[in-house]
Formats: sequence, structure tokens, C-alpha cells
Amino acid sequence: MAVLSVEGVRQVYQSPAGETVALQDISFTMEKGDFFSLVGPSGCGKSTLLSIIAGTLRPTAGRVTVAGEEVTGPNPHIGYMLQQDNLLEWRSIRQNVLFGLEIRHQLTPELRDRADHLLETYGLAEFANSRPSQLSGGMRQRVALIRTLAVGPDILLLDEAFSALDYQTRMEVTEDVYGIIRREQVTALMVTHDIAESICMGDQVLILSPRPAVIRETLPITFDLPVRTPLRCRGCPAFASYFDHIWKELGMHETDSDPSGSLAGESPVSAAE
Ligand code: ADP
Ligand code: MG
Repeated sequence: MAVLSVEGVRQVYQSPAGETVALQDISFTMEKGDFFSLVGPSGCGKSTLLSIIAGTLRPTAGRVTVAGEEVTGPNPHIGYMLQQDNLLEWRSIRQNVLFGLEIRHQLTPELRDRADHLLETYGLAEFANSRPSQLSGGMRQRVALIRTLAVGPDILLLDEAFSALDYQTRMEVTEDVYGIIRREQVTALMVTHDIAESICMGDQVLILSPRPAVIRETLPITFDLPVRTPLRCRGCPAFASYFDHIWKELGMHETDSDPSGSLAGESPVSAAE
């Protein structure tokens, strides 16, 4: 059974100024352990799609099922990672990791042990009693991920989760998060505006059209590597051809001379950062 099934999802926003068709008609499925990247021009409806999958927004038409159950509201089986890590400064790292379980009244001894095991496995045990401000940006993102995984989500959604980090930290965090997601066999759907990141992390890249968004292409990504990591992917010959392909699909060539275009001003080189 598919972990995630998105069927004919359409989203129309109503406002006094008129209606905005954000998503035209989106369908795809994900199996357990899949890692999909989602790219598309700014404003095309990527975050809208994640909100619909997370159950915080009801689609105008279509339906979403997670592990066979239709999503009809905020769903405890879905983990969400955003740009801000939303760690609570008045709580220790361990208390932050347990927070998700606490608010869901799921703080059973088994799940508490599981959370402690994750802290231990991923090098956070020594910071268990520290406060978030005592950790680096990269470590904070790791804590945010562990907190999300502690509730045992069926699927993890990431929305531009690394875009607030500086370049160096971003490389490290990407490496780190990718390793944890793979090791824990998490099914992950990641929105990014960074073409390089979409290639380095995804098994498939879903390329959305400008609004109203449809899936323009589903691009499988494979690298000839014994052990895949995001940094190693960047060094592979195939990386540049995937990059060029996605760049063209996103219509970047059409916006090169248009300063109002999405991603305007970014050359392939700067977008690869
Ligand atoms: P992306 O994440 O791809 O940049 P969004 O999903 O945030 O795009 O937004 C898609 C489109 O829908 C944009 O044109 C945005 O202005 C519009 N939109 C998003 N949220 C709302 C809302 N709550 N009400 C009206 N329009 C919205
Ligand atoms: Mg967005």
C-alpha cells in the first residue's frame, strides 16, 4: 500500500481581489522509504500542497491518503520540518524532543525510550540537558528532526527547511539530515527552491509548472555511487546533466532576462549553492 497518495488535488484560494488557482490537478504516490524532492517556480503552490498533505488545509477538490487513511484534518502521522526549528528555549533539548509526544498525550514509556535512543544514536545525548541557544544552527536542525521523528511519522514533509542556514552549515545539515532519514527509512517529501539540493537528496524530483501548478515532470535520479550522500552526488558527472535538465524544465532560460521572474538573478552556478 502506498504511504502517500495524492489524487486529483486542486486548490483555489478565494480573496476579495478574486480567485487564485494555486494547484490545477496534482496526483502522485509515494511508497515506504521514498524520498521525493518537489521543485517549482516561487508562488506555484508548493507550500500549499504540503499544507494539504499535512491536513491543515482542505483541498478544493481531490483527496490525499496517508497509509490508506484519508487526510481530513491535522494528522499525527505526518511530520513537518520548516525553516524555523521552533525549539523552545525554556525547555532542555530532551524536553524539546519529547514535546511532540507530550502534546499528543503519547508519552508512553516505549516512545520515551525510543526518543532517548534517537538522542543517543544521533549524538545528542550529551546535549540532552542543554538549552537550544547553546547549540549551533546545524545541531538545532538535527534536534528538530529528531523531535519530528520521535512521534514515528508515516511521512516527513520538509518545506525549505535549510534555507535559513548559511552555506557551510547547510551542506553539513543536508548531509546529516539525509543520513538520518535514510537510516530510519523515513518516507520524505521535500520542497526546495534549490535545484542542487533537490538532485542531491531525491530519488525522484517532481517538477511543478508555474501556477496553476501541474506536475510537469517526474524525474528519477540515480547516481553510480556505492554509498550515496548529498555531497558525493554533487561530485558525479550525472549531477550537471540533471541540473541543466531541471533548470530548463523550470523555464529558467525564459526568465534570464526578466528581473521580475521567479528565481531571477540566479545563474545556474549561484542556484547550485
Ligand atoms: P510556493 O510555496 O510554491 O512559493 P504557495 O503555496 O505559498 O507557493 O502559494 C501559491 C499561491 O497561492 C501564491 O500565489 C500565493 O500568493 C497564493 N496563496 C497562498 N496562500 C494563500 C491564502 N491563504 N490565501 C490566498 N492566496 C494564497
Ligand atoms: Mg513555499
